Amino acid sequence: MDPDQNPYVLFMHTNGLHSLPYIQCGCGGPQERIAGAIRMRLMPASFTIFKTMFTFDVLEDFRLANLECKTSAYQYYQLLRRKTEPLAPQIVIERYAELRRLSQCWRWLKKLKWGGRNKTRESDGNTIGEVCTAELAPFCPCCPQPGVNLPDNWKEDENKCVMWVYRRTLMADGNFKADHIRQSTGDKDVWLSPGSSMLPHREEYAEFLRAAENIKKKAPCENSFRAIENTLLYAKTCDINGIVAIACPRHSCFAPGGVANLYRGKQ
Ligand SMILES: [Zn+2]
Ligand SMILES: [Zn+2]
Repeated sequence: MDPDQNPYVLFMHTNGLHSLPYIQCGCGGPQERIAGAIRMRLMPASFTIFKTMFTFDVLEDFRLANLECKTSAYQYYQLLRRKTEPLAPQIVIERYAELRRLSQCWRWLKKLKWGGRNKTRESDGNTIGEVCTAELAPFCPCCPQPGVNLPDNWKEDENKCVMWVYRRTLMADGNFKADHIRQSTGDKDVWLSPGSSMLPHREEYAEFLRAAENIKKKAPCENSFRAIENTLLYAKTCDINGIVAIACPRHSCFAPGGVANLYRGKQ
């Protein structure tokens, strides 16, 4: 507590960790506490007692550092510690677990925002978190999509010469060298929003693979399937050997739910 009896809160910002007294206006009542903090671009690590708060800037900075520089949460946390105490980073308080948890929350909130989810959606029976298959993945804005960029009566268009504008073309391509190391946790991993964006729901995909018929085709020339065969020979430590995607060929946008993992030996 500071001399005015305001509690100290640990703030995580892009320039390090800071312990500062925290005062919040009580006009809106206790239910406004979380919304008030969010409005100030602060994300509390716990919603009951505010002891640690992350600024939106640090969460966004970590997301971008992870996206562009492949910085892990651990490396990023070490960076914040070093910025806080350049000569003795080890004495800085440990908030690594909170960073990991809140950065996941942050990604999820951004995904919901990008997917156009907001409070008004609760009127159609779904809460904000309940998303339908591939709902959070945007599709190509230029390709024809009924209800998005086509007139309601597009089927009745008299002009037969322009029917091609309503046609959607899709292509498939794959990377047969995108290895995924088999995880020791096995099936214990918890999937946060399976099937909600580019990748299909794991169980539905597994069901499809069980039912799908494997048609063996002879290669039209000697070399064309060598890339696939080679990946099958190596990397026993990997459970996934590649990834294929369905995309629109004109604008190269991936189709929602159209990106699939290639499991070992399941080409
Ligand atoms: Zn006030
Ligand atoms: Zn397109």
